[in-house]
Order: sequence, then C-alpha cells, then structure tokens
Amino acid sequence: MLNGMRERYREFMEEHVYAAEPALAREDEAADEVMRDLRTRAKAEGLWAPHLPPEAGGSGEGFLYYADLNEEIGRSLWAQLVFNCQAPDAGNGEILHLFGTDDQKEQFLKPLVEGETRSFFSMTEPEVSGSDPTGLKTRAVLEGDEWVIDGHKWFSSGAEGSGFGIVMAVTDPDAQPHRRMSQILVPSDTAGVEIEPVHISGHHGRGWTTHCDVTYTGVRVPAANLLGERGDGFRIAQKRLGPGRIHHVMRWLGQMQRAFELLCTYSLQREAFGGPLAEKQTIQNWIADSAAEIQACRLMTLDAAHKIDQGSEARVEISLIKFYAARVLNEVIDRAVQVHGGLGLTDRTPLYGMLTAARAGRIYDGPDEVHRMVVSRRILKDFAAGGTWRFS
Ligand SMILES: Cc1cc2nc3c(=O)[nH]c(=O)nc-3n(C[C@H](O)[C@H](O)[C@H](O)COP(=O)(O)OP(=O)(O)OC[C@H]3O[C@@H](n4cnc5c(N)ncnc54)[C@H](O)[C@@H]3O)c2cc1C
Repeated sequence: MLNGMRERYREFMEEHVYAAEPALAREDEAADEVMRDLRTRAKAEGLWAPHLPPEAGGSGEGFLYYADLNEEIGRSLWAQLVFNCQAPDAGNGEILHLFGTDDQKEQFLKPLVEGETRSFFSMTEPEVSGSDPTGLKTRAVLEGDEWVIDGHKWFSSGAEGSGFGIVMAVTDPDAQPHRRMSQILVPSDTAGVEIEPVHISGHHGRGWTTHCDVTYTGVRVPAANLLGERGDGFRIAQKRLGPGRIHHVMRWLGQMQRAFELLCTYSLQREAFGGPLAEKQTIQNWIADSAAEIQACRLMTLDAAHKIDQGSEARVEISLIKFYAARVLNEVIDRAVQVHGGLGLTDRTPLYGMLTAARAGRIYDGPDEVHRMVVSRRILKDFAAGGTWRFS
C-alpha cells in the first residue's frame, strides 16, 4: 500500500526538514521564507496532502496509510505544514470533502488543498466549558439569504493570516441539545470578524502557530455557506474531531519515537559515577517502559485507523488512544529531557520545545478526563445491560 512512500517522506525529512528546524522555530519572516521553499519542494516531489484522497486533491490512501506516514512527518513539529497536512486544515479539508457542496469545494477546499490558503476551526468559547460544548452561545440568524453571526470564540488555532474559518454557531436554539448548532464557512476578511492572537507557552504566536480570540459582530455571509444540513453542527464535528484526534496521535508517535531515540543515544554517551548513564537501572527502566508504551500506542493507533477505514466511527478506540497517548507522549519526552540534564532545557536539542507542545495535547480536542469519562461510560453501559465489554 505504501509503495516506498514512507521512505520518501523519511528521506525528505532527513535532507531538508531537520536542518531547517532552528530557523523555523524563530517564527519570523525569514522562517516564513524557509517554510515557503520547503512546501514548494515537497509539493513538486508529490509529498503533499496525504490525509486526503486523490479525488479531493490529495495523495492519500486512507487512515492506515496516513498513520504510517505520520510516524515520519510527526517527528518534527513543523513537518505537517511542510506537507500541507497541518491541523486544523487537515480536519477542515476532510469535512469539506465529505459535506461541502460543489461550490464550497471550489471556493474553499480547492485553495486549501493547493496550499494557497489556510483555515481555522472556531468552536471553543471563553465563557463556556469547551469540554461540554452543548452550551456554546455564538449565534447565527438567517436574514433573507444571509447568515448573521454574533459571538466570541477563542483558541481558534491558525486564524491569524488564514483565508477562512468554519464557525460553530447556534442556529436553532429550541432544538434538542445536539441539533441546536450548525457549521458555517466564514471568509476571514468578512466585515465584523476580528482576530487577535492568544499566546500559549512555547510559541511567539505568528500565523499558523497562533491560537486566536475571534469576535464576530454582525458578520454576514451567504446562506449557501452553511456546511451540511442546518442543525448538523455536532454530527459534522464528530466526523471532524474523531479523525482529527487520531491525526494528532499519529503525529505524536513520531514525537515519542524521536524523543526515545535521543534518550537512548545520550544515555550511551554521557558518563556519571563511573560509567554511562545507560548502565543505571533507573535509566534502563525508563527505556524499557518507553519502548513498551510507544509500541502499545502504535498498535492502538493502527487498530483505530483500521476500524475507521472499515467505516466505523471508532469512538471508544479514539478516546482511548487520545488520553493514553497524550500521557505516554508527555512521559517519554520528559524522561528524555531528564536524561539530558541541563542540556535538555536548552535549544541545543529539540526536546524542550517538544515537551511544551506535548503538554497542550492533554487538553486540546478534549481533555484527558473527558476521554476517560467517554471510555468508562461506554464500558459501564455494556455491563449495566448485563453484558461485558472487550475489544473486537
Ligand atoms: C493548543 C490548543 C489548540 C486549540 N485549538 C482549538 C481550535 O482550533 N478550535 C477550537 O474551537 N478550540 C481549540 N482549542 C480548545 C480546546 O479544544 C479546549 O481547550 C478543550 O476542549 C477544553 O475546553 P476548556 O479549555 O474550555 O476547558 P474546560 O472545559 O473549562 O475544562 C477545564 C478542565 O476541567 C476538567 N474537566 C472537564 N470536564 C471534566 C469531567 N467531566 N471530569 C473531570 N474533569 C473535567 C479538565 O481537566 C479540563 O482540562 C485548543 C486548545 C489548545 C490548548
């Protein structure tokens, strides 16, 4: 299925991406230039948009295929942008492909897949728990042939410099909780849209790496910008967030593996108390535990990807791997930082940047606690009905 594609991505990473990381991490204009060059080269080599099938303009062949490639792509925090499969555009591209009309595909999906624009997904609001989004307040009212949107969102990742956003808004306040909202496509330069970056630790906040406060004040877009059916907001979000979560985990496998390799290599080089760190039992335990946990994450991810390719929503599998992999990711990188001592906190290794990014993984697309709740509720439901629960 992969026909040597994983090797091609690996070679591209080794030849071009790792060496560019320090320049990219400066997130300045020179970094934008480096990124532009890398993207042009990746596209020319056919290493482009592997999350989408060819009929949507990508080069993908399903989730299992993408999971495998992502172990290479995920090794660098920047590589998803190099290959045009970055969050949140990847998820937005998938739902536009699945639910967009022909006109929406032409206007929004095509330039996204071509890499001519970026997008954002605007759901979470400062005044409402993001873990329980049924209470979201942003309102869209149909006036004639236009939606008029008013509300306040935050953590709209990548909104700065984007071409458009997909906004979750209440269109039917009296409907049952999961039918109250719809998703609406909003060009970023529409009058009444204001975008302000929110800085999270580890990022200076520029363009793609921004997480933005977005206010919508009397924003008017055509009625035809409704994505899917009216009231479908949660149904589409489920289609987007499920795969989006597993995309994150696929990339994290690359981060875990890279941290693990740095941990092992350094422990063999560094000497203390009469021998290399690799001879200390504590370090050996970290290596063994990390190897076991990474392999568990890999197999769980491949299992979920396989089930999605078979048409399943794989809800339990996705929640299970989201919280478990977020924990393993943080632990493995933290162990690698610890083995490097003071060096692990400097910019002479990529580790500390990786650890900062990893911490956010325990919160975005649902905090650990919520995913554990989803898994345990489903299991208990089966037991309460007199059955049992096991993976099939
Ligand atoms: C880096 C980053 C990028 C993001 N990108 C986007 C984006 O592009 N678009 C977007 O719309 N949103 C985005 N988000 C928002 C993200 O999805 C929310 O932060 C997340 O869903 C949690 O919502 P909240 O921050 O409102 O926390 P809250 O819902 O207020 O929860 C706070 C804490 O309460 C605890 N908690 C919640 N529920 C339970 C429970 N049932 N049991 C036990 N404890 C519980 C958890 O520990 C949780 O961390 C992003 C967030 C981050 C950090």
